[in-house]
Parts: sequence; C-alpha cells; structure tokens
Amino acid sequence: MGGLKKSYGQHLLVSPGVLKKIAQSLNLEEGDTVVEIGGGTGNLTRALLEYPINRLYVLELDPEMVKRLMSIEDNRLEVIEADASSFDFCSLGEEVKITGNLPYNVGSLIVENVVKHYRCISLGVFMLQKEVALKLCGKGEIGWLTVFLNTYYEVEYLMSVPPRFFIPPPKVDSGVIKLIRKENPPELNLENYKKFLTSIFSMRRKMLKKKLPEDTLTEAGIDPSLRVEQLTTEDFLRLYNVFNTSQKRRKIG
Ligand code: SAH
Repeated sequence: MGGLKKSYGQHLLVSPGVLKKIAQSLNLEEGDTVVEIGGGTGNLTRALLEYPINRLYVLELDPEMVKRLMSIEDNRLEVIEADASSFDFCSLGEEVKITGNLPYNVGSLIVENVVKHYRCISLGVFMLQKEVALKLCGKGEIGWLTVFLNTYYEVEYLMSVPPRFFIPPPKVDSGVIKLIRKENPPELNLENYKKFLTSIFSMRRKMLKKKLPEDTLTEAGIDPSLRVEQLTTEDFLRLYNVFNTSQKRRKIG
C-alpha cells in the first residue's frame, strides 16, 4: 500500500486474528462508547463495529486518513481530527473504553494522556512497541510512567506481535497491553505526582536518600539505601503522600 507516512508512525495492523483479539479484550457490551486512537485505514475500526456498541469515536491526526475513515458508513462512527497525546477524553461527556494500534513515536505520551483522564476511561487495550509494553507492565526496567500508570490501572500483558503482521513491518516487535481501572483510585494532583516521580526516577542508580530527606523515607517505611527499581507502586504512593505532608509542614513551620 502506498502513501503511508513514517512521520505519523503508520504501520497498519493487517492480521485478522490480532485485530479480533484486541476487540475481544475490550469486553464490549451493548451501550458501550469506545474511543479508537489512530484509526488509519480503519482495520481495527471495522473490527470494533462488529460489536453492538453504542458509539465509536476515532481520533486520527493525518487528514488523509481522516478522509478515508469518514468513508466508512456506520451511523455509530464519529471521526475526529485530533492529537491523541493532548485530546481531552472527558470532553466526550461519558465514560469510555479506549483502544488503538498506537503510533510508536508518541505511544508513551498517549498513555500519559490516558492516565490524566482516568476518571472517564474505565478500560483500555493498546498495541505498543514491545519494550514499552513490557516496561509499562512492570516487566524489565520500570520508569516513572510505569508507576504513574499502575497507580490508576491494573496493567496486564496480553501478547507479543511480530513485525510481519504489519504493513509496512516495523523494525521492532510489538506487544498488546490491557488496562483495567482500579476500584478506588487515589485523588492526586497529577502534575505534582508526575513531577515527583520524574525527579526520583532521574539518576536512577542513586540511592533514594540522595534524592529525598531520610526522615521522609523512614516515615514512609522505606529503607533509605534502596533504589527506585526496588519499590512497588504502593511504596511510591505512600512516599508521595508523606513527601507532600512534610513539604506543607515545612512551609507552615
Ligand atoms: N489502527 C490502524 C493504524 C495504526 S498506525 C491499523 O492498525 O491499521 C497509527 C495511526 O495513528 C496512523 O494512522 C497515524 O496517522 C495515527 N497517528 C499518529 N500520531 C497520532 C496522534 N498524535 N494522534 C492520533 N493519531 C495519530
């Protein structure tokens, strides 16, 4: 197929089996509203429309692909020309399930934007670069986004997908993950939480006591000589809360 653009990360998923598996993993029910990110030529779009869902919004950045998607005739479908890394998912006015064979160059940015809208997104299934997919599941080397995501969602690795299932084949393997929103997600200022996480993940080989006051660490029940990769999501969250309270105390006192 000609005309595919590298700059938009266009690698079309052409395996009917994998498309079906992604759609199945969303546990779609009658009345559901679904958002697809990066519709492209509509392979996944068509697989999703097989289900008795209520509405499907497809976000696509490339105007040419937008045109192609608009030619799919189905009155449940609405195509939106928008950037999924900054789109306000809550503006759709209802709770949604979200999916997509994500453009790999901005995959992490899109996942970050999904977490920022966790209040309106109950479940997600994404295809990403395999290395990123594993990292987000806490397998391999974790990053700040692993913790940010796992604070709000249970993250499960569903399967690996080889390059030959795409046109054109990407240089890397791909992986599919599923996000299920946690029952009682914490209410945090997400900008501050992100700042906290990115700052303790910088210089990751250093012991935590080089980055945070020792009394903050001990108050959170964390050994100051540990390194970031030795903490769980619960540890980070507890640490963030203690850090916040001690910051406030310092400002007042
Ligand atoms: N879902 C299709 C295409 C996947 S390729 C399939 O599996 O066949 C990724 C798609 O995301 C491309 O169509 C690309 O144009 C689109 N895209 C790239 N950056 C985007 C962004 N920031 N927001 C929304 N869509 C984007």
